[in-house]
Amino acid sequence: MAKYIDTHVHFYDEWFGQDYRDEIGRSLSAGVEIMVQPDVDSSERDRMFAISEEYPGTLYTMLGLYPGSVNEDWEKEIEALDDWWDKGPVAIGEIGLDYHYGKETAELQKLAFACQLRMAASRDLPVNIHLREATEDFFKVLDSCPALPPRGCLHAFSGTAETFRRLQKYGEWYVGIGGVLTFKNSRLPEAVAAIPIERILLETDSPYLAPVPFRGQRNSSANIPVIAEALARIKGIDIEQVAEVTTANATKFFNL
Ligand SMILES: [Zn+2]
Repeated sequence: MAKYIDTHVHFYDEWFGQDYRDEIGRSLSAGVEIMVQPDVDSSERDRMFAISEEYPGTLYTMLGLYPGSVNEDWEKEIEALDDWWDKGPVAIGEIGLDYHYGKETAELQKLAFACQLRMAASRDLPVNIHLREATEDFFKVLDSCPALPPRGCLHAFSGTAETFRRLQKYGEWYVGIGGVLTFKNSRLPEAVAAIPIERILLETDSPYLAPVPFRGQRNSSANIPVIAEALARIKGIDIEQVAEVTTANATKFFNL
């Protein structure tokens, strides 16, 4: 059976409640052998690490402050990360910029983002990026960084092939591709067709963004093969090959 890695899943989200164990079981049965949980902020961190620790070698964790959680207390939130480094996070994430709900915190978001990019560079950790309606500022922050992380991934990628090409001068960058690839009227297939599969990571962003035919329902890592199937069709290769390449990509990205 094909083996997969889900590079972005929030099993600690309240939408899962105690069902996360069932969903992890279903995901393992579907061939998803490794699942990586991105961090959001200090409010759910205990639960995130507790769930990961139930599944050593299966669940891995990232550490970081999500742009939607940035406010005047951002420096305190960054300091709070210090209590968790010895848990062995495999990346800093999800971090970045999100102006979808307005730009009131834009300046603080940029400061928190730049600070965490420096942290990733000094700790030699990859970054998992949440970017929404802030592409130009994202590149400006990267330009302002004296040192960049070894690898980066634009999670829930929604940009164009041109955005991906622009990224290449900043080091080894990947895109995280999930359920949106299966949405009707999505422009993502066009971009994905032009991005080499060696730079694609599969992800669900569960419990959100369930692929068709489960759109709107609670998503789970068990749906990774649905996304792999869509990617196989776009690339004109078989699903086993998608599994093999994207699993190798994720293993290298997170240094698993
Ligand atoms: Zn997420």
